[in-house]
Amino acid sequence: MRVFSCTHCGHAIFFENVQCLHCGNSLAFLPDLLDMAAIEPAREFANELTDEPVAEPSPDDGQQLWHRTDDNSGRAWRLCQNSTLQHACNFGVPSDDPNFLCVSCRQTRMAPDLSVVANHEHWVQIEIAKRRLHYTLAKLNLTANHAHDLIFEFLADLPGGPQVVTGHQGGVITLNIAEADDAERARRRIELHEPYRTLLGHLRHESGHFYWDRLILQESRVAEFSELFGDHQLDYRQALANYYGAGGAAPNWQDNFVCAYATAHPWEDWAETWAHYLHMVDLLETASSYATTVNVPGDSDGTIAVVDPFGTGPVPDFDDLVGQWMPVTLLLNSMNRSLGQGDAYPFALTPGALRKLRFVHDVIGTSASGRSGSTGSLTGMGGA
Ligand SMILES: [Zn+2]
Ligand SMILES: [Zn+2]
Ligand SMILES: [Zn+2]
Repeated sequence: MRVFSCTHCGHAIFFENVQCLHCGNSLAFLPDLLDMAAIEPAREFANELTDEPVAEPSPDDGQQLWHRTDDNSGRAWRLCQNSTLQHACNFGVPSDDPNFLCVSCRQTRMAPDLSVVANHEHWVQIEIAKRRLHYTLAKLNLTANHAHDLIFEFLADLPGGPQVVTGHQGGVITLNIAEADDAERARRRIELHEPYRTLLGHLRHESGHFYWDRLILQESRVAEFSELFGDHQLDYRQALANYYGAGGAAPNWQDNFVCAYATAHPWEDWAETWAHYLHMVDLLETASSYATTVNVPGDSDGTIAVVDPFGTGPVPDFDDLVGQWMPVTLLLNSMNRSLGQGDAYPFALTPGALRKLRFVHDVIGTSASGRSGSTGSLTGMGGA
């Protein structure tokens, strides 16, 4: 995720900000522009239900229209209802969109009982991660045809009820909100011997299952997929039981997998690899927005400037992405260790794992360019 700048005063702002600390203007992320903007209340108002002008709208009734402070075109947005009612979102909704919720929030079909304070806090954290997922999927041009199919259910375990299992089925992503509890997530990470477990990672992983159905199954790539990942018809329940029962992955798993859990089943392999690809393009976008250049330790060939994978200039191919990714993750991990933290990216990608990552890159590139025979570069991405 790049660092943004306030469209009013130029000060650095971040994706989650709702107010510029420098000029004081309200901020919103405008999903149709894929950009943050300083906004101010417009004088006209909309009432979607009656088409009648609203006499005295309150700033919190969700009907207030906002303009960009740097734009006189009359283009307007409302704030997502989860912003006005819950203070849980900072996305705008274009004024001609009848939805009260933004493109991200409207995908949540079920939320836990938000009158319970802890549930509300956990839900807010999950929605923050989900908006980051939305941003990267939109940057990869993956939301245009599929965004409205993607549905989320964020559920809490209830006393005496069945345990909520995080996963994907039939286009619905379910997440147990306990994953938003830092202590509980850490406990599960340690219990499952995982080096990395985050809300964003969960959502990226589960979105991989969703897009497998659309980009592999529905686009007749199963044969190609199977060559690299194996037979997806392998009994899923049995495969997972074997993985957890046998105590994890084979000792040489790193030769062909991004992580141990990816060995559990070809679908899990794909979802983990997909998540790593989203990690990669997001981290490179972040690094490029800070104009990062890196020296490859031990390589005297000079420095590598990190290029925005979604930028307008020449677009890096997969080898260029990996060439930047490797030193950036080394830098990232070294800086974390300098602060006494563990590695932020506790993985090492081998040639076998990179082959699978390249396949994800090619599938996304081909899909995003309208299946026009693209070689899989990111060219043409960047639209909403
Ligand atoms: Zn500002
Ligand atoms: Zn929203
Ligand atoms: Zn999975």
